[in-house]
Amino acid sequence: MTLARVVLASNNLGKLNEMGSLLEPLGIELIPQRFLGIGEAEEPHPTFLENALAKARHASAASGLPALADDSGICATALGGAPGVRSARFAETAGGARSDADNNACLVRALQAFDDRSAWYYCVLVLVRSADDPQPIVADGVWRGEVIDTPRGTGGFGYDPHFLLPALGRTVAELSRAEKNAISHRAQAMRALCAKLVEQGLVPRPAPDA
Ligand code: IMP
Repeated sequence: MTLARVVLASNNLGKLNEMGSLLEPLGIELIPQRFLGIGEAEEPHPTFLENALAKARHASAASGLPALADDSGICATALGGAPGVRSARFAETAGGARSDADNNACLVRALQAFDDRSAWYYCVLVLVRSADDPQPIVADGVWRGEVIDTPRGTGGFGYDPHFLLPALGRTVAELSRAEKNAISHRAQAMRALCAKLVEQGLVPRPAPDA
């Protein structure tokens, strides 16, 4: 089987652009599920992997096409990996809103008592050829940094203004979009996924200078 049209199990325009631009050279057209009238799947699971698989299966079952899903979040060492799969709604547990501002305030507060501010962004991607694909293709990426109390920068989204990359001396919100898209957890996972698609013969091997 050669992949040509793949449904993206997300309505996030940023993800569509970022993932689409990496898949296009492999001959894959990425179609957002919304264009096919497919709604969002639930993400009730305790692991990123299960949530991504559930989203990919849902989109594939509804469309009859191969589907790609991602799940991602921020994990703090001192919090045993929290917020993790609850990153998008971390503040809700403390009575806050489902907003970047409240989530960031909640994370900073949770880390107040700890010296260890190390954290990582994690992203897993799952591609299924069909809803009951027995062998989903899975790739992931980890991006390490530190959570800082005072936000810096205006780029990115989510936890980016509080996520410092010590080697660069900048937060992710201080990177340009191109810089972030070259090194982020999602970019790392996408590159790993593309390599697997080529390895497994699901897309033609690109020319050496492509
Ligand atoms: P999802 O993968 O779209 O469900 O994202 C989960 C949540 O993780 C987002 O709402 C953000 O709070 C956080 N997150 C994931 N990736 C990033 C990132 O690149 N920057 C900042 N926050 C992120």
